[in-house]
Amino acid sequence: MKNDKDVAQTVGHFIDGRRVADTARTQPVFDPATGLSHRSVALASRSTVEAAIASAQAAYPAWRNTPPPKRARVMSRLKTLLEEHADELTALITAEHGKVLADALGELQRGIENVEFASYAPELLKGEHSRNVGPGIDSWSEFQPLGVAAGITPFNFPAMVPLWMWPMAVACGNSFVLKPSERDPSAPLRIAELALEAGLPPGVLNVVNGDKEAVDTLLADPRVKAVSFVGSTPIAQAVYSAGCAAGKRVQALGGAKNHAVVMPDADIGNAVRAMMGAAFGSCGERCMAVPLIVAVGDATADAMIAGLKAEIAGMKVGPGTDNGNDMGPLVTKQHHEKVRGYVDQGVAEGAKLLVDGRGVKVPGHDGGYFIGPCLFDRVKPGMKIYQEEIFGPVLGIVRVASLDEAMRLIDEHEYGNGTCIFTRDGEAARHFSDHIEVGMVGINVPLPVPVAYHSFGGWKRSLFGDLSAYGPDAVRFYTKRKTITQRWPSAGVREGTVYSFPSNR
Ligand code: NAD
Repeated sequence: MKNDKDVAQTVGHFIDGRRVADTARTQPVFDPATGLSHRSVALASRSTVEAAIASAQAAYPAWRNTPPPKRARVMSRLKTLLEEHADELTALITAEHGKVLADALGELQRGIENVEFASYAPELLKGEHSRNVGPGIDSWSEFQPLGVAAGITPFNFPAMVPLWMWPMAVACGNSFVLKPSERDPSAPLRIAELALEAGLPPGVLNVVNGDKEAVDTLLADPRVKAVSFVGSTPIAQAVYSAGCAAGKRVQALGGAKNHAVVMPDADIGNAVRAMMGAAFGSCGERCMAVPLIVAVGDATADAMIAGLKAEIAGMKVGPGTDNGNDMGPLVTKQHHEKVRGYVDQGVAEGAKLLVDGRGVKVPGHDGGYFIGPCLFDRVKPGMKIYQEEIFGPVLGIVRVASLDEAMRLIDEHEYGNGTCIFTRDGEAARHFSDHIEVGMVGINVPLPVPVAYHSFGGWKRSLFGDLSAYGPDAVRFYTKRKTITQRWPSAGVREGTVYSFPSNR
């Protein structure tokens, strides 16, 4: 054990309703706006994760039998507490992720909407009932919780993505172990404390911080019945394979490379402004960010470029604590180097760099992980900057001759998370949304992130598993169907033996 100062500055775990200090193995957490480490995060050992699973397992029977309206009331109280603590939570997000406070508030609000949806669980858990499926026989299906579920979440939405998972899981009667991103661990931990304050019994929600060791422990432990993962595609695929091989139910959401098609008839001014937020909001660190514009026709491409260059010239890059800034820093030094490397690569591959954000300087923040918006023209399939997820403020224009060509490119891409089309032509928009091989589609909407009462999920290598995140799919993911068939024969009636298969023939 290290000294008291280390313990105070180390973000530990939340097990059995208490913060658990742990300095055995730690990793620094950085303020991306300064590059300075202000605290560290504990990396849970196998035994710590097992203690969290044991706590969840012990809390499960009583919570499973708690009437759904009582469970839902905890969610309603949590919604109020999250709203009351919004300033504190957004400050934690910005201090560790770097995004601008207003953006952090948007993330938190989307998370709160998932908590609100979870408070409808009694309605959502209503089963299916049929009377007289045979003579005097009734049958119904009910949706029972699974037991202990686990969630593993990425850095880019430290409040929202965990709230996609555990509120609905626990509202359905499960207990939960959350493993947030080790890069920005404070907000999910604080939210777990608020859940306790809202009335969630100790052990129903546990949070362990950590790395691969924690994830591997969750995947191997037979007490964990279901795993929800959100993160990059290689890890999503590995988690899906390992979890399924261990007999668990798994949903693993992965990376993305979202395309926006701009048609010649689009309102170019509105498309430009929509694309600014979609490409550069949160410094491009969103799985629904749009890093590629597929412009149909050279005139469309040229008009988009003129508009984008003018808008980019007015953008403010700086610390996320100042809401006057449009874009904060990237999350870590390593990620900053990676994104810069992609820009270098794009130049080397022959794409035309129209706006170069690599040299951006933020006065007083020399150590911060800032990069300005970058704009490439003449991006082509086959280039790394076309193919790979950059997860930074790098927008590329691909020029095509027709909508069919644009759709072919999108369909051939390995990812299928989100896409959008800007047009005034309803027929083209309908054809696009009908046929495109992507899970979430926007029509003149750049970030078609479904609201909490729909479900979120991509296609192709953006989602491994059958059910999407949150919304109605979450009710199915976190429950198993049981179908009961019942009859009550009249007393004294002698029933015959039937050897043929029971039917209504
Ligand atoms: P990441 O894959 O590096 O990490 C995600 C989680 O997996 C973290 O909790 C991390 O600790 C854990 N992890 C990392 N390496 C691991 C390993 N080798 N074994 C086991 N666990 C491991 O992702 P990230 O950088 O935190 O987040 C960005 C990625 O998440 C992007 O690819 C983005 O597109 C994706 N994302 C997807 C969605 C979606 O809904 N599809 C939403 C948000 C983010």
